[in-house]
Amino acid sequence: MYILEKERILQWVVRNKVDKVIIQAPNGLKQHVREIIDLLEENGVTVFISASHTWGGCDIVFDEAYKLGVKYVLHIGHHGPHRVTIPDNISILFIPAYFDRNPTPIFEKALEEIKDKKVNTISIATSVQHIKWLRELRKKALNYGFRVNIRKGVGGLEGLVIGCEYSAIDPEADEIFIVSGGYFHALGAALWSRKDVWKIDPYLSLYERVSYRKVVSRRLYNITNAMDAKKFLIIVSVKPGQYSMETALKAKRLIIENNRSADIAVFNDVTMEKIQNLGKYDAYLNTACPRLAVDDSSLFPSPVINPGELKYVLKRSLDDYDPRDSISFSL
Ligand code: SF4
Repeated sequence: MYILEKERILQWVVRNKVDKVIIQAPNGLKQHVREIIDLLEENGVTVFISASHTWGGCDIVFDEAYKLGVKYVLHIGHHGPHRVTIPDNISILFIPAYFDRNPTPIFEKALEEIKDKKVNTISIATSVQHIKWLRELRKKALNYGFRVNIRKGVGGLEGLVIGCEYSAIDPEADEIFIVSGGYFHALGAALWSRKDVWKIDPYLSLYERVSYRKVVSRRLYNITNAMDAKKFLIIVSVKPGQYSMETALKAKRLIIENNRSADIAVFNDVTMEKIQNLGKYDAYLNTACPRLAVDDSSLFPSPVINPGELKYVLKRSLDDYDPRDSISFSL
């Protein structure tokens, strides 16, 4: 069950005299906002629900809020803004939607698998939904005799990772544990740390070792296939924390200097239909969320690379390839 911190929401409403609010949440959490709507309406607040997906703290509904004349945004499912400056005329409350199931029992099963191996230090990081359990996870690992490294991560929060930021991980640790549902954060962590990582899934009560080789080979496949491309489409998203026209223009210049061509297309959500409507391109350069290229490359009819990977494509060489370039926003 998700903890929606209704008390905190109410305090925010009263303190700010909130009259109208727009609620945004990732698709998987939208069904849980009903109880928040009821709470807000009981307190005289007019509520609008954003039907758009909410991919991360980079994706804030400023445009919808301005259009509706709403100053208050209730953002569910993420820790806070990422790569976004909140304008003075908008007030946002972030409700992370913590998940109440303790991941420690499943974490312990994974610890059992490594306890007799030559493991000294372990690194633990988590998506925001499970961050409240970090202290207990650390205690459990210490009881097993491991040294535990939990670093400051996104937004200065201990142990927090998001899809494009993994500084909470110690890449030198003998084993890395990511507490999160699905493969999204574990795959990113594998790319960032250049090693296999353990995924602890509190939703399915499963643990699994996620392969670095598998994810990196998919990136290398895309990069190598883009080397022969003559005609690129550069993807720009207008989502506030993903927007990077400067990178797109610079990339276009570099591509043209290398005797190839590039168009720039502007999206909000990047979908297969929109990409296909734009016609045929030999390769795509994605300046929006870097995870589109990593996790959703099937959206693109031909190879897709991220800005950090362009240099390998243009020099037609994978010498010095750094997997972190595969989740980088920078050229
Ligand atoms: S850019 Fe992508 S990975 Fe980064 S916060 Fe936004 S949605 Fe998440």
